[in-house]
Amino acid sequence: MANFVTLGENGGNHLQMSNGLTSVFIDVLTLAGSKLARTDDEKRLIVWLAEKDQNIVGMGTVGFDIREMPWNTGNLEDNKQFIQNVVEAANNKSDWDKLDYQPNEELLFPALEKFSKMIEKLTAEDVYPNAIADWVNAAEKDDPILNGFPKCEKHGILLTCFGCIFCGANL
Ligand SMILES: [Zn+2]
Repeated sequence: MANFVTLGENGGNHLQMSNGLTSVFIDVLTLAGSKLARTDDEKRLIVWLAEKDQNIVGMGTVGFDIREMPWNTGNLEDNKQFIQNVVEAANNKSDWDKLDYQPNEELLFPALEKFSKMIEKLTAEDVYPNAIADWVNAAEKDDPILNGFPKCEKHGILLTCFGCIFCGANL
C-alpha cells in the first residue's frame, strides 16, 4: 500500500511513497519543523503534517493534497519558505538522534526533494478556501492547536490531537 501527496488534479504531479517511507517522511519533517516553527502559522503546518500518523489514522490512508494544508494565504511566501527550510533541515538530519531507527536516505531524500518542488509551485489560488478555519473549527477544546501548541517533554516535538507521534504522550 502507498500514500500519495498531490498538488491538484495533475496526475503526473505527485509524490508516491510506501507506507513505511511515509512514516519516515512525516517523522523527519515533524522533528525539523518542531524545532524551527516560531509563529502559529508555522506550528499549524507542522502539527497538520504530524497528524498524518498511520499508526492512528490507518496504514495507507494519510495521503493528502498540498492545497489542503493550513496555509495562511495572506502570508503564503513566508509559509512556503518555512516549509522549504524544514525540508532542508530534514535533509541535514535535524534531530535524527531522537529516532529509534535509521531512515533509508536513498528513499527519503528524493521524496523530500519532490515535496519541495511541489511546494514551490503552490500559489495562493491553489490553497483551499478556509483551509485553516475548517481544520481549527473542527478541533476539540483540548486540542493542542487551541492550547498554545505544547510539545512533548521527552521528544521536544509539537503534539497533535493524538499526542506525541513518537511516544503518544498527551497534553
Ligand atoms: Zn514524545
